[in-house]
Amino acid sequence: MICDYRALALAGVQNLTPYQPGKPIDELERELGIRESVKLASNENPLGPGVRALDAARAQLSGVALYPDGNGFALKRRLAEYLNVDATRITLGNGSNEILELIARAFLAPGRNAVFSAHAFAVYPIVVQAVGAEARVAVANGPDHVLPWGHDLDAMAALIDGDTRVVFVANPNNPTGTWLDEASVHAFLKRVPEDTLAVMDEAYFEYAEVDGYPDATRWLDAFPNLIVTRTFSKIHGLAGLRIGYGVSGEAVADILNRVRQPFNTNSLAQAAALAALDDADHVRRSVQVNREGLRQLTAACGQRGLGFIPSVGNFLSIDVGREAAPVYEALLRQGVIVRPIAGYGLPNHLRVTVGREHENRRFIDALDKVLAS
Ligand SMILES: *Cc1c(COP(=O)(O)O)cnc(C)c1O
Repeated sequence: MICDYRALALAGVQNLTPYQPGKPIDELERELGIRESVKLASNENPLGPGVRALDAARAQLSGVALYPDGNGFALKRRLAEYLNVDATRITLGNGSNEILELIARAFLAPGRNAVFSAHAFAVYPIVVQAVGAEARVAVANGPDHVLPWGHDLDAMAALIDGDTRVVFVANPNNPTGTWLDEASVHAFLKRVPEDTLAVMDEAYFEYAEVDGYPDATRWLDAFPNLIVTRTFSKIHGLAGLRIGYGVSGEAVADILNRVRQPFNTNSLAQAAALAALDDADHVRRSVQVNREGLRQLTAACGQRGLGFIPSVGNFLSIDVGREAAPVYEALLRQGVIVRPIAGYGLPNHLRVTVGREHENRRFIDALDKVLAS
């Protein structure tokens, strides 16, 4: 008899579709026989890491025979100072993705549910369904809203019931780039029951320059059910090292600390992250390149009559006015890698990471060619 191992998995796991990462550049170039392609597909920092972070990681290399500091003492101490909270409230993760997963493992199970928005980050359904919990997806803003496809916090609050243990809010959201203002988030947090964890995913926090964009960490004392997650993958340019963190009430941090693996963040990542926090110049430069790049991309869309979702992140989702998948494929053949987001319920949009001037120009020129043919 042949056992069906797929059927043995939890029902929620069987129904998962794997997260689709952007194509690695080498693989694409080999496949298509092209060179010098540009990757604007995974919201990485086009400037790379800062020199300080890179030097710090390099200095750790010779020590990799030893396990890393399992408690991330130095990094947590520095983060505590940076965030003005006690270090006992910080949880380090192998990317902030891991924090999202730890939250699901510790607080969700069959019979419990988690609420998030349509068109939200793809990792939420994965971590929720993987532990057999129910994913409740709230309708998002409509196409005519000022922030089309963004989170509708009223719709989200309406889905919360007695079995809701977690609600995920991305601010700004990926792949839409939409954001939520201080008053709305604060009002929402007041509506979330105290036995439901409110996760504020702030992966793009540093990029959001718009007036009224909130720093949710200042509500940590008021809401013991609040967890704010941030990452070194985006503005700090350290995506390959996998390091992020959650900051929460002490009780929640204590629980997350119990389920994580003993050495979940590596020594290179800890050292690089620590140095990155001291490199305000690199952050400033990265914000500036992003600001200029967003302007360049939105202006190009305007000139061509292409719609886009107003973004405060380091990416822009552009409505190409037709099914985006073939446009994505054709762009690949021009050596430009972007991200189709049909899997997020936006079949006519392409998400483009904001690059440096010449990278954005490559994308715009390639798009012109593709849309003309
Ligand atoms: C990129 C991203 C993250 C962070 O990913 P890590 O690399 O695991 O830190 C978290 N949330 C959103 C919405 C993202 O886009």
